[in-house]
Amino acid sequence: MKLTVQQLVRPEIAAIGAYHVADASGFIKLDAMENPWPLPVELQHELAVELAQVALNRYPDANGGGLKDDLRAAFAIPASADIVLGNGSDELITLVAQALARPGAKLLALEPSFVMYKMNALFSGLQYVGVPLREDFTLDLPATLAAIEREQPAVVFVSYPNNPTGPRYARDEVMAICRAAPGLVVVDEAYQSFASDSFMDLAGELDNLLVMRTLSKLGLAGIRLGYAAASPAWINELNKVRPPYNVNVLTLAAARFALRHLDVFNRQAAELRAERAKLSAALAALPQLAAFPSEANFVTVRAPDAPALFQHLKASGILIKQLHGSHPLLANCLRLTVGSPDENAALLSAIQRFFA
Ligand code: PMP
Repeated sequence: MKLTVQQLVRPEIAAIGAYHVADASGFIKLDAMENPWPLPVELQHELAVELAQVALNRYPDANGGGLKDDLRAAFAIPASADIVLGNGSDELITLVAQALARPGAKLLALEPSFVMYKMNALFSGLQYVGVPLREDFTLDLPATLAAIEREQPAVVFVSYPNNPTGPRYARDEVMAICRAAPGLVVVDEAYQSFASDSFMDLAGELDNLLVMRTLSKLGLAGIRLGYAAASPAWINELNKVRPPYNVNVLTLAAARFALRHLDVFNRQAAELRAERAKLSAALAALPQLAAFPSEANFVTVRAPDAPALFQHLKASGILIKQLHGSHPLLANCLRLTVGSPDENAALLSAIQRFFA
């Protein structure tokens, strides 16, 4: 007798929907924390010549083809740390979960945070423990340390700064989590280009710390390149669960090219930080909105009727992220990616029209 799909698939997988990506065609796209600017035209031509020379007939270099050395130099990754590359940092989250998913093991994350922590716990069979942030999205350190003590998680995920709320926690608080955790602490620095602090200096130095980053928010979301740094003992284990050729030759070449032109991306990040400050100030001037402080390339706001504002923006041709409904602490919240000056001006005037 044949079994049906529903009989075969694990019930917890059958019960969920696939990660939803909204159709953004025709919209000002401010929903996914992308850099608004494509590669400058001169660089496009230079890159095209380099990509044309990549050996597409060969599997990728098993050791990253020099990209790890380039990352180490570009981002001051300590000599004591090893590096693992991922198909986006999404894949690195998966590798961590897979390596640690012994029966009964737990994954702890602060809530609300990046949804893929919880999803990967589900996929890998780790027990998920969510510790709520405070109402103002600051970290509740006593509750977090108590949960760590009670649950003894194999891994704690800390998004630093936090998606989808915006703030980063105090460095001391994350240090306290590292000290208290019996297992691995992943500090996910996806938004590091827009933040005022990093734990990269401690990668390889603190035994239970893994610092995760991505090139996505810097302007290369399309190539899918994530990297993580930790002590060699951790990287060695993650490499065992990593698919052998997980980062393709075009991504390796494009990432190496981008790192040679890092100044271009760093200038854009600086402009986005300045735009974030302008946007935050303008939003704060609207009495109907509460704008949360942000160290990322987005600003999260609370509105009296977030679904109505979301629909109004959509009707105005602007796509943002509706957070309302995804977590109790995110009631009436919306996440606005910081775009180009023109895009931000359009966003702001559409919001002002809504409240006029
Ligand atoms: N971590 C955090 C906190 C994120 O917000 C995201 C993207 N939204 C990722 C990781 C994944 O990024 P990527 O897979 O593009 O590297």
